Parts: sequence; C-alpha cells; structure tokens
Amino acid sequence: MSFTRRAALASAALLMVVQPALAATPAKPVAAAQKKAPTGSDFVPSPEAIKAHMSFLADDAMEGREAGTRGYDIAANYVAAQYALLGVKPAGDKGTYLQRVPLLAFRPAGEGALTLTGADGAAVALKYGEDYLPNAQAQAADLSVEAPLVFVGYGVVDATRGRDDYAGLDVKGKIVVMLSGAPSSIQTEERAHLSSPNTKRTEAAKRGAIGVLTIPTTSGEKRRPFARGLAGMKEWRVTWRDAQDVGAIRAPGAPALAQISLAGAAKLFAGAPTTLDAVLAEAETPQGAVKGFPLASKAKVTLKTEIEKRESSNVVGLIEGSDPTLKAQTVILSAHLDHIGIKEDAKPGEDRVNNGALDNASGVATLLEVARGFKNTKVRPKRSIVLLALTGEEKGLVGSDYFANKPTVTKADIAADVNLDMPVLLYPFTDVIAFGAGRSTVGEAVTHAAARVGVAVSPDPLPEEGLFTRSDHYRFVEQGIPAVFLMTGFQNGGEKAFTTFLKTNYHHPGDDLNQPIDYQAAAKFALVNYEIARELANAPARPVWKKGDFFGAAFAPAGHPSAAK
Ligand SMILES: [Zn+2]
Repeated sequence: MSFTRRAALASAALLMVVQPALAATPAKPVAAAQKKAPTGSDFVPSPEAIKAHMSFLADDAMEGREAGTRGYDIAANYVAAQYALLGVKPAGDKGTYLQRVPLLAFRPAGEGALTLTGADGAAVALKYGEDYLPNAQAQAADLSVEAPLVFVGYGVVDATRGRDDYAGLDVKGKIVVMLSGAPSSIQTEERAHLSSPNTKRTEAAKRGAIGVLTIPTTSGEKRRPFARGLAGMKEWRVTWRDAQDVGAIRAPGAPALAQISLAGAAKLFAGAPTTLDAVLAEAETPQGAVKGFPLASKAKVTLKTEIEKRESSNVVGLIEGSDPTLKAQTVILSAHLDHIGIKEDAKPGEDRVNNGALDNASGVATLLEVARGFKNTKVRPKRSIVLLALTGEEKGLVGSDYFANKPTVTKADIAADVNLDMPVLLYPFTDVIAFGAGRSTVGEAVTHAAARVGVAVSPDPLPEEGLFTRSDHYRFVEQGIPAVFLMTGFQNGGEKAFTTFLKTNYHHPGDDLNQPIDYQAAAKFALVNYEIARELANAPARPVWKKGDFFGAAFAPAGHPSAAK
C-alpha cells in the first residue's frame, strides 16, 4: 500500500465525518488525516485490489458464473487461490477450500392433470395454462395425489399475533387450498417469512395435509400475473441433494402441487359456503381475516417432473481466532459468488454474458479484501472468521441453505453471519443499510463500526421488498443464527444509483465493468464490513437475538443456537 493511496483514502473517509461546511476548506483536515487513520482502524482497504478481483470475476470468460457451470467453477477456484495466497486455512471438505454442493435441478415435464370430482360424482378437468400450472417436484418424477379439498384462507399461522388460519379445520389427509401471500397489516419482513411457501407448507404438513394448491389474491395476480408463470414453465428450479441424492425440500409431506388461476379458483369454489368473490374481497383488507372451510369437491392431481443432477461448491476459508476459548466460535462473512449465466434469448451480435459485476462480484471482491485485512492485522480477532463464497444464491439461496444445514464448522458455535449482496458501488456512499440490524445485538456492532468509519446507518428504504428474507444470511437466520445483510445506502446519490441500476443493468448483460464503478467507495465498504466483523469477533459475549424478536422467537427461542441446545 503506497503512502499516496493511503492518504487519499484517509482524507476521503475523513471528509465524510466532518461538517459539510468544512468540506469546502479541506486543507487542515487532510493534513491531519495524513498522520493517522481517521477511523481508529488498523486496516486501509485497497481500491486497486477490489478492482482486480472484480475484473477477474466479472470477466466474460466466467460466462456469468451460473451455479453448476464451468464458469462458476473457475470463479470458485479463483477465490480458493486468493484464500491460499492470503494464508487463509482451508475450511471446506477434506482439507480443501471447496465444500461440494450437490445440486438437483427439476422442472415440470408436460402439463400434468388436475381433475375435480363433485359430490354428485361429476368430474371437471381443469385446463393447463388457463386454470392451473403444475409444480415441479424435487423428490418425485411421478406424483399422484387424490384427496378432498379444504380451503384454509391464507394458511398463515403466527403465534405472535394469535393467528391460526387452520383453527377449527381438519386437514388431515386432505389437499389444502390457500391464498398466496399474507395480509398486508403484518410487518413486511415478518410477512415475507409468513407468506413464503416453505413456511406455509410446513404448517400444512404439521396438520397432516398431503398437498397444497395455491390461488392468487386479486392484488397478487396484478403483481405477478398467472401468464408470467406459464411463460416460465421451462425454467429449471434448483435445490441441493443429500448423500442419497434426495432433493432437499421443506415439508415434503405436503408438496406444492399446482398454482391455480382466478379462473381455476372459480371452479374449485363451485358450491362453496362463501363465494370466491367474497373471499378475495376479504383477503384485500389489512387484516385479511379470511375464514377457511371444506370445499365441495375432491381433486386428483397427477404430475411428472424432469430431474437432473448438477455439481457446484461453496468456497470456505478460516482465519483462526487468537483467544484460546473464543476461537472455537466463528463469525461468518458471506457473499454469493454465483450469478445467472448466459442470456439465452440474446439476439445475434448482442452481449450474451450476464457478468454480475455488482451482483455479486462486488460482494465477493469486498470479502476477499476484508480477508486481507484480517490476515495483516497485528491484533488478531478473538473469534475465528469464516470466509464463505456461496453458490446457488440466484437459484433460491441454495448454497447457503446447504452450508447452514451442513456447515463445515460446528453449527452451535456459529456466532453470526454478515452477508454482502449486490452492494451498488457506483457513487461515494455516505450511509449503509443493515437489514435485520434491529433484531439482534449484531445491530450494535454495525452501529459502532459505521460510526468509526464515518458513515450513517439508515433504516430499510424498501420495506415493502422484505429484503431481510431475500439473501443468503436468511438461511442462517432459519438456523437461529443472528445475521445482518449489509448494503450501501440511499444517501448522497444512492437512491438514484440503486433504482437506475435495478431498472437498467440488474440481471442483465449491462451489469459489467463498463459501469462507472467507484472503487474508493468499494474500499470504504470493505472497511465498514471489516470493522463490523472485528467487533463481532472481539466482543466479550456472542450476539443474541433481541428479546421477543419475531425471528429470534421463531428460530432461536433461547437467544442463539448454542443456548437452545
Ligand atoms: Zn441477483
């Protein structure tokens, strides 16, 4: 690290903390900054190093780093080589940096069949693509389910709000029919969790249901039209598979059988005690207190699924802690390495490679630079640091789900996860967003670290998106592990940069290195991440969920996974 570079970065960081008036006369603050780092940090991240990592990872030669492809494997080997160069210990399988993640891809084979039989014995066949779309099954190439139908409203069970949509209903051995989503009055992150098909099918399976049919709400149909689902039928879904090659799915006893359209729902509701229109109207109210009831018909659902094995890997490194006792515990720093691969419908001559420069070569490059900080520090962290570059995020948080279920370190000793996903490094950010910060004591480390670096911590600017449940850290949350998801904020041009990125280059070949990437901002982002991790690694007590927090109560009632044992 050269002196000039260091000074430039230090002054840039300092200007963030001084009053705006001082920024006009920077001579004195800059001179002072040259004497010592302004942050109290012993680490000065290198913009050039981050640029170098991003240049490799977002190159066309990686072909978009899709999980299960050669491009991803090359990127994974690059990350492993960087760990090796830094002297980071291998923490994958059998003394290597790679944790094998066996994948299973699956998609509907053909149209399937869905037939209703009324009390009078008359059969009605629902129409593929008009009334229903079949769901692919990870665990069964052929599946046939026949049972009476019970409508269960939203199918939401939430003890914290005293809500049980199954109250008074017997669904044992039945196929449940549920509205997608959850009522709008529920806090957005909690709603995202409660409305997830995984959560809902888990509740259905607990009550003995043997399958799930989903119908849209009126507003849901507007947001995600049924026709879009039809257009996506050929797309592969991906999960991980276990040692017996069985695809991992939640609540396999109550599989998702089909998505029903509003037209199909009208057929399901023939002869129902409440009309579909009344149900849909009630569903739009904030409380959405839709009452369930048995439907008049039974259904037979027959499905065929095409199943294919694929291979990928997470890249895992460990920086051993210095404290004889605390080093058994780990602070995980995660970032997904995979992206969405090649644009299949590109026109001749058009750019076909989804480079994923900011999604998430930027996060992985930051992770590698933070690792360098920990390797070079004179004051080693007390807890151990795990560096985790993940596969399959774009397939539905698959690599993180695999690691969180089968960690290569002791699960009960994972103290926290700090996740980086899609930091939009296109402007000199002055604030960060830490999704989930208010839910556990990890939030305090974020607050202190941000203050040391001179950036603000802003509240979630997109609460409707429920982003806390939408990146890899959430798989750790589901195992009871406190976690935050760190992103650059909306101040100082951030909102425009973020929304423009989403509109133009997000999941598009334009997300490449031709964007005006601000590597000074990238270095500052690495410093924030480093400081958060350092505080989490050195704090006397491991992080705990805040008392009464929704996710803490759901996944770690005793505060963290070790205490729960
Ligand atoms: Zn993405």
